[in-house]
Amino acid sequence: MSKKLSVNPLPVKKNDVIDVNIEDLTHEGHGVGKVDGYPLFIPNALTGERVQVKVLKTTKKFGFGRVMDWHKKSTDRVEPPCPVYDRCGGCQLQHLSYEGQLAAKQKQVQDVMARIGKLPDVPVHPTIGMEEPWRYRNKSQVPVGLSEGRVITGFYAKRSHEIVDVNQCIIQDQVSDQVMQIVKEKANELGIQPYDEASHKGVLRHVVIRRGRTSGEVMVVLVTRTKKIPYEAELVTALKEQIEGLASIIHNINAEKTNVIMGESSNVLWGSEVIYDSIGDIRFAISARSFYQINPVQTEVLYKKALEYAELTGEESVVDAYCGIGTISLFLAQKAKKVYGVEIVEQAIEDAKKNAELNGIHNAEFEAGPAEEVIPAWHKEGKKADVIVVDPPRKGCDEALLQTILEMKPKRVVYVSCNPGTLARDLRVLEDGGYHTVEVQPVDMFPQTSHVECVAWLESSLS
Ligand code: SAH
Repeated sequence: MSKKLSVNPLPVKKNDVIDVNIEDLTHEGHGVGKVDGYPLFIPNALTGERVQVKVLKTTKKFGFGRVMDWHKKSTDRVEPPCPVYDRCGGCQLQHLSYEGQLAAKQKQVQDVMARIGKLPDVPVHPTIGMEEPWRYRNKSQVPVGLSEGRVITGFYAKRSHEIVDVNQCIIQDQVSDQVMQIVKEKANELGIQPYDEASHKGVLRHVVIRRGRTSGEVMVVLVTRTKKIPYEAELVTALKEQIEGLASIIHNINAEKTNVIMGESSNVLWGSEVIYDSIGDIRFAISARSFYQINPVQTEVLYKKALEYAELTGEESVVDAYCGIGTISLFLAQKAKKVYGVEIVEQAIEDAKKNAELNGIHNAEFEAGPAEEVIPAWHKEGKKADVIVVDPPRKGCDEALLQTILEMKPKRVVYVSCNPGTLARDLRVLEDGGYHTVEVQPVDMFPQTSHVECVAWLESSLS
């Protein structure tokens, strides 16, 4: 005889229309409303609102809904200034005032510190925001497509590869709008075909635009499937004539069927191979494919905080794990005896070495490889660290790296993180191993989006 399963019925089902209070915001910027404890995630609903919701989907543990009407709106709700906000996938919080965004990000960090880090009392400071939280991005990667026979440029719609035609993106540097306009006009006038993902035919795939904030120098990268760009000279002339500060036009070839934007091969069509920018006193050379922080204003704020937490006197040996092109390492090297940077991408390490040279910094060494292998090897060799700085990708630090930190026993750990959840998880490991989290500082690197960046300061409990 088959045993009868007892099914716990959910309090709502698909297509129900119900009223809920919004109690919280998720890390994706969705409102959370609960029905008998069952959470519904509701885009475009804000904490403190009472909304009428249509249930779109249910799973065992949570469901999704759409706002049909507002019974009560948040006083923090604002009109999103971008006309394509509801279709484009780029921003998630334009409907929330900037003060509201900063407060929501602080709360999100506090919540995960308590829930995941078991650190309910750790001080999480108010998020440091931008004076002008628009037009802050120094890099845009714009897909090119075709709509009703016309070439369009824009951004991908939420969770899709359909291109939303955009004439301006107000979180990007103005120059991005100008370049998009020129490329669109010229492609339409001359008949340059956009790339078509489905058939893997056509020419122009993406336009990547970068500007050095302090230098004003602009780089335009034209990414094509083909080895040649038809009407290349006309395109180059139009950009040269109209773009102020243009310093570099690069052609990148990407013949693969892939979501990766740039291919392996690049050549200079006009101007120089790199543009320059500075963060604090450090200058960086940026090539078409180098990684570089996209919000240089807030990067400086973040690194100054990291430097403050590191409390360097000039005598310390510092390890910078996940160092990228050496941005933090070079910042720290000015105040430390020696800095050792490690990063998995070899090209980034090459850039880090060049950047050290460019700035006349001789007390920074870099090694390519996984931090969780290179740092244990350094430890075995007898290398010491007074301070360890980590800045891992979203998945956080590798367990083996955390264990090595506990074995190396630096006096201080500074943890820079783009994901509060994995930060809280890793802080718990370090706390259990003898460190004390003094404080956490969220910094708003990505205004209008739901991303949160933090820097945490830990001291060894032994010292
Ligand atoms: N600190 C740098 C970059 C931080 S982004 C800056 O501020 O600019 C995180 C970096 O970690 C990326 O450059 C990525 O390539 C690198 N990375 C990812 N996994 C890694 C690993 N296992 N070991 C070392 N570096 C890694």
